[in-house]
Amino acid sequence: MEIEVTVQSQKEFDDAIQRYIESGYELESHTEDNAVLRKKGFKLWIFIVLLLFLIIGAILYYFLSDDNVVVLKRISNSNQYYCRECGISLTDDAKFCPKCGAPINWEDENDVSAQVTDDNAFKI
Ligand SMILES: [Zn+2]
Repeated sequence: MEIEVTVQSQKEFDDAIQRYIESGYELESHTEDNAVLRKKGFKLWIFIVLLLFLIIGAILYYFLSDDNVVVLKRISNSNQYYCRECGISLTDDAKFCPKCGAPINWEDENDVSAQVTDDNAFKI
């Protein structure tokens, strides 16, 4: 921003220079009838524009970023048994199938896990 100030007398000229210097201006050039004074201005709009870009960037990052999600499940095959009559999964302590009521013979149902346990023991 540049403004032009005109004064009439030499005294007004000198007073004006003095007044601008007192309010933070620096004298850039000074001749008999012309003086240029400059003060560094705080340009607020630059900060507002930068802040807007930052906010827009953050919003875009939030909505356009693609998260990678891995759901990892461990299936314990040594504790999983199934009813021989209807095939639903059974808990360890069930005496009868909760769905069809068939009595559970754990000796038979354990065959598969017993096999696994034997294989593991053999490897060691
Ligand atoms: Zn059943």
